[in-house]
Amino acid sequence: MFVSDCLQVNGQGHLTIGGVDSVALAQQYGTPLYVMDEGQIRENCRKYRQSFEKYYQGHGIAAYASKAFCCKAICNIMKEEQMGLDVVSGGELYTAMSVGFPADRIYFHGNNKTPQELLEALDYGVGHIVVDNLAELELLNQLACSQKKQASIQLRIKPGVDAHTHSFIRTGQIDSKFGFALETGEALAAVKEALALPNIELKGLHCHIGSQIFEIAPFEHTARIMLDFLAEIRTQTGAELKELNLGGGFGIQYLPSEHPAGYDSYMEKVSQVVKESCAENNFPMPFITLEPGRSIVGSAGITLYTVGAVKVIPNIRTYVSVDGGMGDNPRYALYQSRYHALVANKAAEPASMQVTIAGKCCESGDLIGEGIPVQPVQTGDILAVLSTGAYNYSMASNYNRIPRPAVVMVKDGASRIVVQRETFEQITQNDLL
Ligand SMILES: *Cc1c(COP(=O)(O)O)cnc(C)c1O
Repeated sequence: MFVSDCLQVNGQGHLTIGGVDSVALAQQYGTPLYVMDEGQIRENCRKYRQSFEKYYQGHGIAAYASKAFCCKAICNIMKEEQMGLDVVSGGELYTAMSVGFPADRIYFHGNNKTPQELLEALDYGVGHIVVDNLAELELLNQLACSQKKQASIQLRIKPGVDAHTHSFIRTGQIDSKFGFALETGEALAAVKEALALPNIELKGLHCHIGSQIFEIAPFEHTARIMLDFLAEIRTQTGAELKELNLGGGFGIQYLPSEHPAGYDSYMEKVSQVVKESCAENNFPMPFITLEPGRSIVGSAGITLYTVGAVKVIPNIRTYVSVDGGMGDNPRYALYQSRYHALVANKAAEPASMQVTIAGKCCESGDLIGEGIPVQPVQTGDILAVLSTGAYNYSMASNYNRIPRPAVVMVKDGASRIVVQRETFEQITQNDLL
């Protein structure tokens, strides 16, 4: 019935998250409300760490992709859990800096970083600027020179792997705005240039083949391609790069029918490929970085809504309108992402209805999902949409001037606000007459 370990039903038949009654949370903090289980998030971090220990002698790190869910509290949790951190903008970098996140564990991504963003990264001493293109490489060299600094970089490579996922979230194939293509020789040329530039220190390579990937084979295939490229670089230039960043993209369960492989088995198989390729090429084992986003926070979060109008259109469908929608979760509108939901105050009852969950925006496409089985639902019920911890709050907007919900973290049976609910004053604060 549930898609996440942190969800259960209590004696009152209410959905609980991290042991806390979700209906009580809705009453205490209001709806719509994002709720995240801190225990589950920390557990997910530990699993990655333990897998690195078990299969790769700890010679690597998981860097949480903060775009999945970024705020000060999560950056602080990642700092405490000894994780690395991916940022893709000045705003995400600023958030990381505001909690004193260790610079050597930050990876700065993006296909169009501004000069200002690059200067901020150099100033903070970001340990890994992941360079996307030649213009950026040259700009970064100039900026580093002007600051009398060395920029530590990885180069983003397109390994040309099709990871069988939705094309909007597939980034490793050749027709992608990200990175240098391997097949065309572009990648090797970029490596040579990076090695030649005086204020650039090329530490290693990066790749990221997509998101919400269930199969392990594309990751194994990618690791093999990248290791062969590392060996080719050594042959061609003499440089033996020390770091290999294999990106993120590990899939999570959104629906009861989905069954992603555990990431322990992913780590086992991929580290085997790394070890074999290194042995074959007589190449020293690189320091491996993985960049999980969704698989750290996705299943640890739910969104609570209050049900408003329930509109039955006979023989067609039943619309259940909630007090949020595409403003707090644009993923169905963007890419028809599917979600599981339940009536939090009737969580022990069978799901006997099929409904379309609609938001409150002036937009027919403002849906959270269609054909979703739920318990008999009425106006005033609390509806919980599951696995919303990733790419919900971070993608939220103020469309229709609807304030963004608060984010509450639960831990050890207690709850606290980590992002306050937006107010109308905040929404209008930058308006001038
Ligand atoms: C989005 C992204 C990730 C995280 O992807 P998930 O699917 O959330 O694990 C990691 N690395 C890069 C470069 C990304 O763009």
